Amino acid sequence: MPGRKLDIRKLVKPSVRKLRAYEAREIPCRVKLDANESPYGFKLKAPDVETNRYPDPEALKLRRALARDMKTGLSNVLVGNGSDELIYYLVTTFGGPVLFPTPTFVMYGVIATALGERAMGVPLDENFDLDTKAMLKAIREEKPKIVFLATPNNPTGNCFDTQSILKIVEATRGIVIVDEAYAPFATQKGMAPLLPDYDNMVIMRTLSKIGLAALRVGYMAGNQELISEVNKVRLPFNLNSYSQAYAVEAMKDSKGMRGYIKDIASERDRLMAGMQDLEGVEPFPSEANFILFKAKAGAGPVYNGLLKRGVLIRNVDAMIKGCLRVTVGAIKENNAFLKALGETLAG
Ligand code: PMP
Repeated sequence: MPGRKLDIRKLVKPSVRKLRAYEAREIPCRVKLDANESPYGFKLKAPDVETNRYPDPEALKLRRALARDMKTGLSNVLVGNGSDELIYYLVTTFGGPVLFPTPTFVMYGVIATALGERAMGVPLDENFDLDTKAMLKAIREEKPKIVFLATPNNPTGNCFDTQSILKIVEATRGIVIVDEAYAPFATQKGMAPLLPDYDNMVIMRTLSKIGLAALRVGYMAGNQELISEVNKVRLPFNLNSYSQAYAVEAMKDSKGMRGYIKDIASERDRLMAGMQDLEGVEPFPSEANFILFKAKAGAGPVYNGLLKRGVLIRNVDAMIKGCLRVTVGAIKENNAFLKALGETLAG
C-alpha cells in the first residue's frame, strides 16, 4: 500500500535476522594475498558454448574427469557452485546439529545458522590439533547429524591426524565431511582411498585453490546413496556451461597443475623461513597455500601497516587473538609481502 512503512526485518526468519553478510568486498591493493587464491591462472581458449541452451544439468563430462581423479565412480560424485554450495546442500539434506572444531572455515557455522540449524564449535587444542576427546564427548552428547573437518584446516594451516579423523567417523551416527580444499598442498595424500570403508564419510574438494577460483567448482565424493540424497536438493543447473567446459579443459593439463602446486609449496617454505627471520612475528607450520602468524604488535596494526604498503592479507584476530593469515603468492608477491612486513614491524 503506498505510504505504508514496511519493517522488512520483521519478515525475515529469526535465524537469518541474526546473521551478518559474509565480508567479501574488494579492497584496492597492489599485492592480493587475502583469499587463498592461486597466483597462477590458466590461459584457456574460450569454450564453445551454446549460449541459448541450459548447461548440462548433470555436468557429466566434468564429473567423469573428477571421478577419474578421485578414483571413484561417476555416481559417487556431486558438483557444486564452489564447495560453499555443497555445504549448503549437505546441511539442507541432513540438518543439524552441525559440529566442527574451532577455529575453522566460517561457512560451516554461517550456513548451519542461516538454515536454522544448531552450529556447535569444539575448540582445537593449543597446537591447533583436534581435541579428539572433546570431539567424541560432543558427538556422544549432542548427536550431530553432520561433522565438518577441514584438513588442512583454515585458518590454522595444519592437517589433522588420519587416525583421529577415523575415530570421529566411527563414533558419529551422522555423516563426517572431510573438507580437503587445501589437500593438494599437503604432504598427506588425502582420504579418498578410504571412502569405500566408511559409508558416512564424504570427501569435499575444490578447484578454487589451484588456479580456478573464478569458475566456482567444488565437488564431493561419497557413497552412492548419500550422494543421490544430496542430489535431490541440488538446483538443476547449478554449474554454468562455461565453468563446466573450462574446468574439463584445465584438468587435462594435470602436469601444469601439479607444477603450480609444487611451486606454491616451495614458495610457502621460503616464505616461512623469511618470516622466521623477522622479529615480532611467529609463523605457524603450514601444509596449505597460506601461513597463519601471530604478531606481537597485535593483528590490527600489522594489517594496516601492510595495507598502507599495498599488501592485502587477512586479519583473523576475531578467531585467533593477535593472528593474521597470508596467502602464498608468486615469488615477487611474497617478496613484496616480506619487505612490507619488515618495514611495518620496524615501525
Ligand atoms: N573449505 C575451506 C576449508 C575453505 O577455506 C574454502 C574457501 N575459503 C572453501 C571450502 C570454499 O571453497 P569454494 O567455495 O571456493 O570451493
